[in-house]
Amino acid sequence: MSDRLFEELLNETKTLFREKFGAEPQTLVAAPGRVNLIGEHTDYNGGFVFPMAIERWTIIAAGPNDGAEKATIYAKATDETADFAISGEILPAEKVEWTSYVQGAIACSLEKGAKVAGFNAVITSNVPLGGGLSSSASLEVAVATLMEELSGVKFGAVEKPLLCQKAEHVFAKMKCGIMDQFISALGEKDCAMLLDCRSCEPKMIPISDPSISVLITNSNVKHALTGSEYPERRASCEEAARRLGVELLRDVTMETLEASKDKLVDEENGDRLYRRARHVVGEDVRTLKMADALVAGDWATVGAQMYASHDSLRDDYEVSCPEIDVLVEIARKIGPEGGVIGSRITGGGFGGCTVSLVKTEKVAEITEIIKTEYKKAVGKDATIFATRPAQGARVL
Ligand code: ADP
Ligand code: MG
Repeated sequence: MSDRLFEELLNETKTLFREKFGAEPQTLVAAPGRVNLIGEHTDYNGGFVFPMAIERWTIIAAGPNDGAEKATIYAKATDETADFAISGEILPAEKVEWTSYVQGAIACSLEKGAKVAGFNAVITSNVPLGGGLSSSASLEVAVATLMEELSGVKFGAVEKPLLCQKAEHVFAKMKCGIMDQFISALGEKDCAMLLDCRSCEPKMIPISDPSISVLITNSNVKHALTGSEYPERRASCEEAARRLGVELLRDVTMETLEASKDKLVDEENGDRLYRRARHVVGEDVRTLKMADALVAGDWATVGAQMYASHDSLRDDYEVSCPEIDVLVEIARKIGPEGGVIGSRITGGGFGGCTVSLVKTEKVAEITEIIKTEYKKAVGKDATIFATRPAQGARVL
């Protein structure tokens, strides 16, 4: 299934290149989207995240142009062709558009020495745009991979995701963490990545048992709260860390937190700061525990961490929403007998997707139940697909 999707997208990309530029593409690269299995809102606290690459990709086909000192690139998603600078001082445009991600990844690659001659390219993707599965990181990483291939300069394993993150910060004006670019660049087939967001050290954790699949369910709701709530959560974490006398909440244990609870509870905030910190501190523990349990094949413990993560994000961190809670409750009700190991909200919150670990043989049945029950409860259609952990960016 995934191979077929990939081949289809690849063929479409090649065909589009021939149509647009009247030649065979010389270089083909792909970079995947991602889903975070657990470890939510821990990245900016220097903690642990646990993403994996998914079987959805951004593909770029490229070839030389006739000596022009620029890149001409067509994006299928927007049906637009644009010209990009490939030398000199490159500044971010005021308005963020798809071109910002591409120009940003080109500029930040050039900064790292990847000098290229002019080229033509076509970009396609089957990562849903803006769906919380990081189409943006897959686009940046695909462009950086193309720049490597065209220039002959090989970026360092950590250098590449960091330059892509910089592209998103400076050119797309989105202050994202490091997770998305790391997993899209460095993901490995049949593995999730336990990433320490302070040291930037990735550790690959095998999920090699093919009888387990990852089910991604899009609630198809996005509440407008994200913009205002995200900075509030970050500020709460900083304030909690300050009161506890540490740089980052990563450095707090559950014991210290409980012992210092009075420092976080006051009249103005009630126990809000305490609950925010409890989520972050607990989430780091759950993330490490889930990685161990996965290796051990201890599915009950894996599932318990996922549900506990969801409950904590709903009650302590308050970033869930009714539609997402419905999806997780449907999965919880299906339970291990029906093939569901665990389920939780994934991504920033207030809508978007849930991630569930399920028995591969039950995917069709579970999908059917979730669709029906969600429609009944919320009146909306959920979009669902199953995936195994995929490989990160590569040259084809
Ligand atoms: P997410 O990363 O969760 O999918 P973002 O809002 O961070 O959502 O990024 C989505 C944006 O990235 C799109 O609006 C578009 O500007 C850009 N983008 C991503 N993939 C592509 C693509 N294949 N072609 C053109 N633009 C893309
Ligand atoms: Mg994004």
